[in-house]
Amino acid sequence: MIKVGVTGGIGSGKTLVCEIFGHLGVPVFNADIEAKELYNTDKEVIEQVQQLFGHDIYHKGKLRKDILAKIIFNDSKALDKVNAIVHPKVREYFLSWAEKQTSKYVIEEAAILFESNAYLDLDYIINVHARQESRIERVMKRDNISKEQVISRIKNQLCDEKRMKLADFTIYNDDNRMLLPQVVDIHQKILSKR
Ligand code: ATP
Repeated sequence: MIKVGVTGGIGSGKTLVCEIFGHLGVPVFNADIEAKELYNTDKEVIEQVQQLFGHDIYHKGKLRKDILAKIIFNDSKALDKVNAIVHPKVREYFLSWAEKQTSKYVIEEAAILFESNAYLDLDYIINVHARQESRIERVMKRDNISKEQVISRIKNQLCDEKRMKLADFTIYNDDNRMLLPQVVDIHQKILSKR
């Protein structure tokens, strides 16, 4: 089973690109969505988060995201600790999900593929690239948030130059570039591997 990562900065178009791969029959695992779910579904994650921040960080079995966000915002070490709990779990879930798929290859979509070490499990990485101005505009519109809020999220991610260097393929997602031919080209290249 070939494992492929799709990454890119916030608003670059990862989800859109993965939807196209999905239409081509490639199973997609969304690590960001999975990570959010794990906080409320995985017993070990719940226990470890409670050990760190106390039982009140959960209310009626649901993580109090606002409280965790406040803690993390003021304490970067707390963020590292939470990541150390969640990232290995997501990798574990991805690998067991991948084993169950029957396609020639699978995709893991994640905003922080390199930062979380998820790339270590992957054979190829695709970086989705878009100009920062386009990304800011798209995310402001999609999430109804301010320019400053988008920029602060961008600052928490690896810069695109580094991502591009580390990736095997780059998909350009700016207004004048068609996604479909780029995706089909990479799809065919991956299918011809091994
Ligand atoms: P995030 O990191 O926040 O999950 P993402 O990389 O998955 O973002 P998408 O959600 O796919 O990005 O795209 C961000 C927004 O921009 C979406 O609303 C999407 O519909 C829109 N979008 C993506 N690509 C384009 C494009 N080429 N032209 C116009 N809008 C686009």
